[in-house]
Amino acid sequence: MSDKKKLLVVIDPGHTGNTYNAGAVKGYYESKAVYDLSLYEKAALEKRGIDVILTRERNQDPGLYERGQMAVKNGRGYANVVFESNHSNAFNGKAYGVNIIRSAHLPASEKLADRMIDAIVKVMKLSTGITYNRGVTTKTQSNGADWYGVIRGAVSGATTQGQAKNGPVRYDYIVEHGFHDNQKECQFLSKQENLKAIAEAKAAVIADYFGISDKGQSGSQGGQSDKNNQNGQNNQSRQNNQNKQSIDTDSSAQNKKTSYLVRVSIDNLNIRQSPTIHSEVVGFTGKGTFTIIEEATGIVNAAGAKSRWGKLKSGRGWLCLDYAEKVG
Ligand SMILES: [Zn+2]
Repeated sequence: MSDKKKLLVVIDPGHTGNTYNAGAVKGYYESKAVYDLSLYEKAALEKRGIDVILTRERNQDPGLYERGQMAVKNGRGYANVVFESNHSNAFNGKAYGVNIIRSAHLPASEKLADRMIDAIVKVMKLSTGITYNRGVTTKTQSNGADWYGVIRGAVSGATTQGQAKNGPVRYDYIVEHGFHDNQKECQFLSKQENLKAIAEAKAAVIADYFGISDKGQSGSQGGQSDKNNQNGQNNQSRQNNQNKQSIDTDSSAQNKKTSYLVRVSIDNLNIRQSPTIHSEVVGFTGKGTFTIIEEATGIVNAAGAKSRWGKLKSGRGWLCLDYAEKVG
């Protein structure tokens, strides 16, 4: 058993200042809301005896890579380090829901992120009526490094899992707490008491995940309970995934074996593990021509609409055929 303290949480409030990224509700700005949220979260974690660092003061604006590096530099001497970048999302005014992008090189982050989303969704949905779990995803550059600078910094630019594995056990992810260009979710995020409720729920997830009671962390003592805890989560998250699968995709009886070529003309079409937007992104097609060997019906957007998906002959996964044009 080591003398290391069990856990450091590095919270990165996205962006800077009080007026960056206006929302659908007058007076809402992402940079202000996520800073306030991060302050509440820090307080809720510290109440449980957990060490917390924020990457910035309200009006500071450190570089993205630098923010991530704060988790590496300050994490020495801890058994576990969580790096979390807080944001609210924007798309077309209609999209909604909570999603997390985790480091592709730290798969352990997935279990914690899964529970984090569930907790945030639970709090938000009570009031918005619409917020749901958009899933945990990864996104990488062509060299394998994480796509987002803040995550890349947190794993020191690792391009493989091996490179990311030194020092404490690491959990790195970006949380998108709903969409601020969505009227209902922005309304929710505009209220301080709601930000506080999200922060409390998130702190409870972290404390529970690492087996830290309300009395606080107690040096090396929790190693075993950590292990038990994580095993429990394994099962739970597997269960969740199975449930999701059966809801999001139609039965395999509707899958159709086939073989034809499609052309993809956008750079970043997701390849997913199974034919639904709720399954993991395993890569991107890039522009080009691809052979489809199987078709299935599955969820294609936040509103739960379904469309056709095609399975790649390469075995890499599924792409949504709405973004692919049949050739010849
Ligand atoms: Zn943001």
